[in-house]
Amino acid sequence: MGVYVPLATKYRPKKFADVIGQDMSVRIIVNGMRKDRLGAALLFSGTRGVGKTTLARILAKAFRCENRGSDPEPCSKCDSCREFAGGGQMDVIEIDAASNTGVEDVREIIESCQYRPAQGNFKIFIIDEVHMLSRSAFNALLKTLEEPPAHVKFLLATTETHKIPETILSRVLKFDLQRVNVGLIAQYLSSICHRENIVADAGTLSLMARAGNGSIRDSLSILDQAINLAKNNELTASDLKDMLNVVDDAAVVELLEMILQTSVKSAITKYRRLLDGSVSGIGVAKMLLNYVYVLICLKTNLEPMENSMAEEISVKLQLLADGVSLPALSRIWQMLLKGLEEANIGDNPEIVMEMILVRIAYASGLPDLHEIISSSTVAAGAISVNNAASKKETGSLLDDAVRMFPGAVVK
Ligand SMILES: [Zn+2]
Repeated sequence: MGVYVPLATKYRPKKFADVIGQDMSVRIIVNGMRKDRLGAALLFSGTRGVGKTTLARILAKAFRCENRGSDPEPCSKCDSCREFAGGGQMDVIEIDAASNTGVEDVREIIESCQYRPAQGNFKIFIIDEVHMLSRSAFNALLKTLEEPPAHVKFLLATTETHKIPETILSRVLKFDLQRVNVGLIAQYLSSICHRENIVADAGTLSLMARAGNGSIRDSLSILDQAINLAKNNELTASDLKDMLNVVDDAAVVELLEMILQTSVKSAITKYRRLLDGSVSGIGVAKMLLNYVYVLICLKTNLEPMENSMAEEISVKLQLLADGVSLPALSRIWQMLLKGLEEANIGDNPEIVMEMILVRIAYASGLPDLHEIISSSTVAAGAISVNNAASKKETGSLLDDAVRMFPGAVVK
């Protein structure tokens, strides 16, 4: 048996063209390399797992490639490139600022800058989590960042740009790496499954992509773990759901349907059953919000910003969209948002969320504001307001409705 190598390591991009989902940054870097206009200090920012260190390493490799010519991609054949493949080079120094935060650590870097690389043209410092440096360490680094020796490059990476002093930020070329789009990650996972001889359908791939939360590395780790569950090299969504402890999308859509139908009791029973499956009340609310968003997109002919739903869920949502009005959806959206706020500050978010759902389900039976005005009827209490009755009376009924169902009526 071969030595086990995690997928995230095995498939780590080795050249710019392999980097997924960071097209703009890669384009600027590749063109910058071509025109020799990248400068001596670059900063990669973004959440964990989006490829900051990976991109910094490819760039370091490209800077040092002995065959560097018009093509900015590292050749992967020269001695320098091959040393990278072997696990590192003495002229590429990787520092984790989280454990080297002090001014002394930075002084060592600065001192080492004075010496030329043992081989090749550039000595490269990759400083990870650079925001962890102390203020005095940043101050010590400042001058070197501003005017580094011609043979030195600094590649900095951070998850928290706002913790880096402005004086440093103004001296580096910044690249803000994005969370990778779920569809793109699913596509990537599909290609990896193919290479690993694993069968996984679109729903399963999308589930892994979503669980990775925009991080290719996290999605690959999930796939790594899931492969151990695969029977006959086949990965199923239900295995994965058990492994990830994810909520069944179909169950949440059913809950939404019950809310739209004003079936308060069944909705709450469903909600409690979802809670038994280890999802939090806030988790359910966030999923509901997402589906309401999709419904609103469907009503307005907008493409949802991220669409990675299984086919049967899409079909079901289309049916729901046909039976509900846009104002009603926008009302539910507002109530859910407000409810999330309340649940976040409450002692027992599950109970708070339950009450919010009761409120939303009841409000789903309320007519829209324009219906109230046009018919002068408030359906909540089925109280008909005689047209002869003053506007004032209708207004006070509306006020009652607002009090009963905060967020339900848009005035
Ligand atoms: Zn090379």
